This record gives sequence, C-alpha cells and structure tokens, in this order.
Amino acid sequence: MTINGSELWEDERAPEVAAPRMRIRTSADILATQTERPRELPRQTVFDARDVSVSYGEKTAIAGVTLQIQRNVVTAIIGPSGCGKSTFLRSLNRMNDSVPGFRLGGQVLYHGHDLYGPGVDRVEVRRRIGMVFQKPNPFPKSIYDNVAWAPRNLGMRHELDERVERALRGAALWDEVKDRLKASALGLSGGQQQRLCIARATAIEPDVLLLDEPASALDPIATAAIEELMHTLKRRYTIVIVTHNMQQAARVADRTAFFSLEERGAERVGALIEEDATQTIFGRPRDSRTRDYVSGRFG
Ligand code: ADP
Repeated sequence: MTINGSELWEDERAPEVAAPRMRIRTSADILATQTERPRELPRQTVFDARDVSVSYGEKTAIAGVTLQIQRNVVTAIIGPSGCGKSTFLRSLNRMNDSVPGFRLGGQVLYHGHDLYGPGVDRVEVRRRIGMVFQKPNPFPKSIYDNVAWAPRNLGMRHELDERVERALRGAALWDEVKDRLKASALGLSGGQQQRLCIARATAIEPDVLLLDEPASALDPIATAAIEELMHTLKRRYTIVIVTHNMQQAARVADRTAFFSLEERGAERVGALIEEDATQTIFGRPRDSRTRDYVSGRFG
C-alpha cells in the first residue's frame, strides 16, 4: 500500500489519538472484557506485524515474526537474552532506523497502515508511539522542563502547566514533585526518574507506550510502583513491554509473547514461538520450548 504521511495520520482514528484533544475511545466494558474475550469477537488491532524480519548488516536478529497487538492491552515480550525482544519492540516505532545496516522485511501495520511505507513521517510515528528505555534518561533540565519538552517542541503550548500536571499525575509522580517542579530532574531517585520518563513520554498523549525493560535498573519498591502504574496506564494506552523478568510479565501483562532463538542454517535467529493470554503462556503453553522457559529449565 502506498500512502503518504498525512494520510497515515488523517485516517478516521486520528482524532482520538491526536493530542491535546485526544480521547482514546475505551469504555470500561471493553477494558473489563478485553482479555477474557472469546477469540471470535472483534478486537481492536493496533499493530499487525506480518512475517517481520530484521537484520543488522549480515546478522539476522529476528525472522518470521507474525503478531498482532491489541488496544488497551499490556503485551509482554519475554525470552532469553539475544532473541530479538528489543529489536522487535524498536521496530514498532522505527527506533532502529538509524542503526547502520538495519533492514526490515515483512510488514508492520499500525492501525492498518504500513509503518515503513513510503512517505511515513518518522517524527509523527514517534509522536504516536512513545518509548521508555531501560535506564532512566531524564534530560539535565528541571522536572517541569522534562515533561514540557515534547509538547513545546510540537507546538502544544496551550495550557502547558495543566498538561505537565496531568502527565505527572498520570505517572503517579505529581505528589512527590509538585513543590519542586523547577528542581533538576537529575536529583530524583532512579524510580522517580523512570516515572518522570513515563510522564515525559505521555505528555504528548501518544497512542502507544513501548517499554524496554523499564524496571530492570530499579529497586523492588520502585519496580512495584512502575508495575502498579502500568495497570493504570493501560486504560489510556496500548502498552508493549519487554522484560526479562517472568514474574513481572505474569503480574502486569494481559498477553505474553515468547521469543526464542531458532537454528536457521548456520545462524541462530530470534523467532516468536507463541503468543497468548499470559495465564496460558505461564500455565499451559502449547510449545515445549515455552514450557521449558517459563518453568526455568532453559534461558
Ligand atoms: P534481546 O532484546 O532479546 O536481548 P536484541 O534485540 O537486543 O535481543 O538483539 C538481538 C540480536 O541482534 C542479538 O544478536 C544482538 O547482538 C543483535 N543486535 C541488536 N542490536 C544490534 C545493533 N545495533 N547492531 C548489530 N546487532 C545488533
């Protein structure tokens, strides 16, 4: 499909994801039933990855990944180190584009549009699909300016104070920082910094949040706060989280995708082994490789 950037963002879904007027159409009913829904009922697909492969130069990182990601659901990606979890996550918002030698095969459809199609504006992609990284990376600026940074850059200056407050409240950080918004973000604890990064990512009210091991650098209390936050955030956002922590996946995710390495000729290539409701992946997975991994026999 040939589309240009403006078409991509002007489809019928754009108004509900467009900040600041964005209101993601999610009823409590949908939220309550989404994960238990029988498969035959329609779900809202945000990402439709079709036979996706990614290489870095000669190295194939992942191949043959076909996976749908549903709206307002937390999807965890688990699997042993090097199986391409981050690679897949980063291909959902074109974060790999600047990596030398990066090539993507197959298709990633976002709300039905080819994310890698000609004319797609990468800045716009990042605006719709926010990302939070493993290591909290606040800018060396004030707490306020961190959160206000993206809205300012995108010209969303109207009621900026309210926007900053909303984002900080949404990230469960407001009460801890409201009296020191002008203080440096670098003075916050690691867990607070990560919640600030979540506030920064959500200040422009994206459609999707991609989280790459967001709690792995944090202590257990800060980790619990981030996990708790995810349950709240999924009411507004579609969340995809990479985690090496299986308990965390079991605690936060509605759906879980298990990736592993497969022998392909002389290469070991990352592949999606299975994706299902989290309780199925951890309770009665179909594939013996999943069973071995979740029971701790491998990886
Ligand atoms: P995981 O997140 O499961 O640990 P990654 O997606 O980070 O796996 O890596 C998958 C494979 O791709 C690994 O073999 C890794 O070395 C390779 N890889 C990842 N990033 C790059 C890169 N920027 N350049 C070259 N190879 C990379």
